[in-house]
Amino acid sequence: MEKPKRKSGASTIRDGSNAKRRPRPVRRPRSLYTPAEVHEIFRRFSIQRPEPKGELEHTNAFTLLVAVVLSAQATDVGVNKATRALFEVADTPEKMLALGEAQLCDYIRTIGLWRNKAKNVMALSQALIRDFGGDVPGDRGELVKLPGVGRKTANVVLNMAFGQPTMAVDTHIFRIGNRLGLAPGKTPAEVEAGLIRVIPPEYLRHAHHWLILHGRYVCKARRPECERCVIADICKAAVKTNSVPAPLVELAPVTEPA
Ligand code: SF4
Repeated sequence: MEKPKRKSGASTIRDGSNAKRRPRPVRRPRSLYTPAEVHEIFRRFSIQRPEPKGELEHTNAFTLLVAVVLSAQATDVGVNKATRALFEVADTPEKMLALGEAQLCDYIRTIGLWRNKAKNVMALSQALIRDFGGDVPGDRGELVKLPGVGRKTANVVLNMAFGQPTMAVDTHIFRIGNRLGLAPGKTPAEVEAGLIRVIPPEYLRHAHHWLILHGRYVCKARRPECERCVIADICKAAVKTNSVPAPLVELAPVTEPA
């Protein structure tokens, strides 16, 4: 007699009943790189930029949080131009509330979506005073409850203000994770989880800055500049145009972000 066929997507528990089925484990997209290759990629990035810095100007955790909220769909250069004057008069939640929404709008009018962002900055300043005594919490769960703060913003603040090894996946990191096959994923969350999994712990603290800067200045969206790339010999991107790595030297800090 012919055996009954199993339905795909589940396996039968062998208790004779054939009644309960276990869901198949979710397949994670795999990195194309061995642990030794990933280690070498980040070793080289660490030599190029031993102390990478974010390019959003700020003076404390609060001004960093505000700058990151303002930077959504805007360039760091544009945000810095607006916040230089703003942070001279409002570098704490209390001073921001004293400034008021109308005046805040005057400072940030050059930044896209400024009306909504101004509302969010006022609301998050109120929430910080009400719930945290005016301090910025160093906890992702608390940060994402603040108006205008999503997971990416929270990760930037946790990394830069609190030194936590988080991975804030922006457009550059998402592109690199997929283009190189370093941590492929359909969503920023998948790429974030993949990178956290493959990057050696000793490099995680600075990894997000290294990847952003690599994406912004070398592995660019339209045309990657593979002839200037220090990991060209390791890279497995289909779009790669050169396999000879650029000289590995320490770079001067970027002063004017693109
Ligand atoms: S070799 Fe080219 S594609 Fe690969 S990481 Fe470098 S710039 Fe990007």
